[in-house]
Amino acid sequence: MSKNTDELFKNVISHAKEYGFVFQSSEIYDGLSAVYDYGQNGAELKNNIKTYWWKAMVQMHENIVGIDSAIFMHPKIWKASGHVDGFNDPMIDNKDSKKRYRADQLIEDRITKLDTEGKTDDAEVLQADMDAALKSDDLTRLKEIIINNNITCPISGTSNWTEVRQFNLMFSTQFGAMAEGSEEVYLRPETAQGIFVNFLNVQKSGRMKIPFGIAQIGKAFRNEVIARQFIIRMREFEQMEMQFFIRPGTEMEWYEYWKTARLKWHVALGTDPAKYQYHDHAKLAHYANAAVDIEYQFPFGFKEVEGIHSRTDFDLSQHQKFSGKKMQYFDPELGPDGKPYGNYIPYVIETSIGLDRMFLLTLMNAYEEEDLSTEERTDSRTVLKLPPALAPVKAAIFPLTKKDGLPEKAREIMDKLKLEYHVQYEEKDAIGKRYRRQDAIGTPICITVDHQSLEDNTVTIRHRDSMQQERVHADDLEKIIGDLVSWKKLLG
Ligand code: ATP
Repeated sequence: MSKNTDELFKNVISHAKEYGFVFQSSEIYDGLSAVYDYGQNGAELKNNIKTYWWKAMVQMHENIVGIDSAIFMHPKIWKASGHVDGFNDPMIDNKDSKKRYRADQLIEDRITKLDTEGKTDDAEVLQADMDAALKSDDLTRLKEIIINNNITCPISGTSNWTEVRQFNLMFSTQFGAMAEGSEEVYLRPETAQGIFVNFLNVQKSGRMKIPFGIAQIGKAFRNEVIARQFIIRMREFEQMEMQFFIRPGTEMEWYEYWKTARLKWHVALGTDPAKYQYHDHAKLAHYANAAVDIEYQFPFGFKEVEGIHSRTDFDLSQHQKFSGKKMQYFDPELGPDGKPYGNYIPYVIETSIGLDRMFLLTLMNAYEEEDLSTEERTDSRTVLKLPPALAPVKAAIFPLTKKDGLPEKAREIMDKLKLEYHVQYEEKDAIGKRYRRQDAIGTPICITVDHQSLEDNTVTIRHRDSMQQERVHADDLEKIIGDLVSWKKLLG
């Protein structure tokens, strides 16, 4: 990370704390590693990102429905899905610092360093070497790569490493009160399995016809070997996943469809398309026959925000095998031979986006430190240029002063608007200061009530991005805000 980007990232993190977006969990107890809480503005922004996703996936697609499955599930599910045996990361310890690392991340950091130094050929060789070792689960080779490339511990500076071992990322706990009768259950490491095991419930109760999708937003838990980069890698996080059930043989077509559709969803937010890239997986997960990541250029490099995976019929077949229940669908449509496609286990395309990573992306993309200095005076502001539909507060209402009936008039306007929008009332400090506070949380417009408002029911609105002001009739506010924050702009 260059000094500027490093500084920018630090500034965004402190801004997130100062303005009630993200706090370290259990902060008064010195925090809990890789666990975060969302504050009053963060919770609003997060909810709005969820709504944008839900609308784009469920509301905009007649053949996609949403569910909300439980975090606890029968432990056999994780055996069937392959997570008990295969959901591992390669870890390595430094014997001097006693610090634990993910072996692949240590190598990735070296690749990023080589890239930033312009040694792209060396970076490519190292990448290929690591990909080959990961693909064949060759832990000895991973260690050799670390040693041969002189990769040292960032804390101790030594290469006194242990062997590379596999570490299972699932959290487990005891289910049931009696010690003898209790059973080990897992906190789900992905929301997807809750969709697979409900596939037939939804298909039958909703009379869904293939192709169709099931979407879900919810918490997932992973005991990540090492926590890094703020809310990029958390131990408790949220996913927005959709499993799209299709006829076998059509997977590549649908894979391409969702790859394009998902990137379009991202770019509709006004994010610079050049900051996005597709990254094909070198090592396919045990369930996938094609997989791509949508990556975003964070200050610390390109990072996965969303994965699109062609999961074949792996999950449903496994659940059929482990539960003994048929996971088949009867397809009445006629095939090329004039006969119905009949019974089969559907194939699946998955889109899986991390809500917290999307939150950070949105914040980073919106954050601007603007120099507003003129010849007469120096001035600046920090503004979140969020898409208005995602803004935590849609409008702020200020009485110009705290007297002469202006607060009452402002509250009257506020009471009407709050039926439809999340609005905020502020009367403390000079108007300029109040503007700055709202800029810092991304409020698209501020409404000021002054003495003239009492006479002709007009108010001044000031726009966040242009800082332009205009006089409008108070009765028009609902429509003005409605047009500004409309989801149509993102979904159209
Ligand atoms: P990574 O390689 O970064 O560990 P992954 O490939 O394991 O991610 P998936 O299993 O594909 O991730 O999960 C889907 C999405 O969930 C990811 O694209 C990411 O946005 C999010 N995600 C995964 N792990 C975490 C985590 N520990 N903290 C926050 N978000 C996460």
